[in-house]
Amino acid sequence: MRAVLAYLLAPALLLVSAAATAEAAPGFRIETLAPGVHAAVRTDPPGLMVDANCLFIVNDEDVIVVDAPEATADLIAALKGLTDKPVRYVVNTHWHDDHVIGNAQWRKAWPDAQFIAHPSLRDYLPGTGAKNRAGMIAGAPQAAAQMRKQLDAGKNLAGAPISDEERTSYASDIALVADYMKVVPGTPDVLPDLGAAGDLILQRGTRRIEIRRVGRGHTEADLVVWLPQERILASGDLVVWPVPLVGSDQSHVNDWPAALDALLALKPAAVVPGHGPVLRDTGYITQMRGLFADIARQARELRARGLDLDAARKAVKLDDWHRRFAGDSPVRSALFRMYVAAPAFVSAWNAAAR
Ligand SMILES: [Zn+2]
Repeated sequence: MRAVLAYLLAPALLLVSAAATAEAAPGFRIETLAPGVHAAVRTDPPGLMVDANCLFIVNDEDVIVVDAPEATADLIAALKGLTDKPVRYVVNTHWHDDHVIGNAQWRKAWPDAQFIAHPSLRDYLPGTGAKNRAGMIAGAPQAAAQMRKQLDAGKNLAGAPISDEERTSYASDIALVADYMKVVPGTPDVLPDLGAAGDLILQRGTRRIEIRRVGRGHTEADLVVWLPQERILASGDLVVWPVPLVGSDQSHVNDWPAALDALLALKPAAVVPGHGPVLRDTGYITQMRGLFADIARQARELRARGLDLDAARKAVKLDDWHRRFAGDSPVRSALFRMYVAAPAFVSAWNAAAR
């Protein structure tokens, strides 16, 4: 089974940038961005299931980690291969499982580590977060079984003959569901010790680490981590490649462009997105900004014309954006429909009423 998955994943791995400095555990690779600053970048092909990227910031005496993916046990092994300094702080960029579920592992490995996140995580994780997690645990294995059936039948989820790209993507989704089911059920939440409702500056020797709240976009709880000397940004899911991740209930599409403007104003040299490879220029962020600003504008205009939501959904024009984000890839096209077109318009529509 492992060999089959490895074979299916091979073409996607070839597409990954050649900047890798070390092959780490399966599923991610370590990319050194500056002395002591290492990104653990996921190598999965684009798909419905994701695990998050992670950033290690190794200082004179300690380590600060950004995010706590499902693969945290493997990340800990990789980090221990880089340094024997202890993890002092873990920053969770927001409240989704693929960014917080590894907190328990970080704490087990370094019991003195402290957890920094937006203070809303203390309410969200035991409430809505627990409900969403239960839904995911109940539904994900069924979704994976359906994908397995499609693979066996040689058909994509729409019933058409499956492409190599879809085959690779479905296989990755199935593997990520297996990882999720291995790690998530029964893992306790570790809530933030330090709530960052605004900016928080950490000085570790000569290194300055800024934990910044640039506004809400992907969720209410979005934080980013900015290293001003190295000009390195860990954006959390405010930036996700190749297609943004939007939730109709959780995201704030109308506020998102302003948050992205704040990131662009930093002029980062390297951006570690929540998902996707390290971005070496800001073109993709500018494209995301344009998408959300346009959706917000269209929602306002369609509301002003007196349309109801159903009519507005038919009238909204996203074809150009769809082409720009998806190109001729059926997988990215499906992701755009599922994670952008439907939820982003609903988010903007609801905000336009207020
Ligand atoms: Zn997220």
